[in-house]
Amino acid sequence: MCPHTPTCPDAAAPDREAARTIISHPEQGWSLLCNGIVIFDDTGELLPGGDSIGPHRPTDMPLQTQGAGHYSGPAAAPGSPAA
Ligand SMILES: [Zn+2]
Repeated sequence: MCPHTPTCPDAAAPDREAARTIISHPEQGWSLLCNGIVIFDDTGELLPGGDSIGPHRPTDMPLQTQGAGHYSGPAAAPGSPAA
């Protein structure tokens, strides 16, 4: 069924998202992979058997790990404008 070499990962394989995209509709936010999986922009997936997988990659999530937003770098000392 898969014409590619090497063959695409099966829909049940851990690396199933590595399958080739055979139909892409970015304007609609989804793509069909060679192994039958429909993958959405938000990383949700629709499997060939009808199961669905929710978004599971942090692409759309705010960065709220380890308080990285407050780090301003070693050179940015307060009260010292760049002369
Ligand atoms: Zn393929």
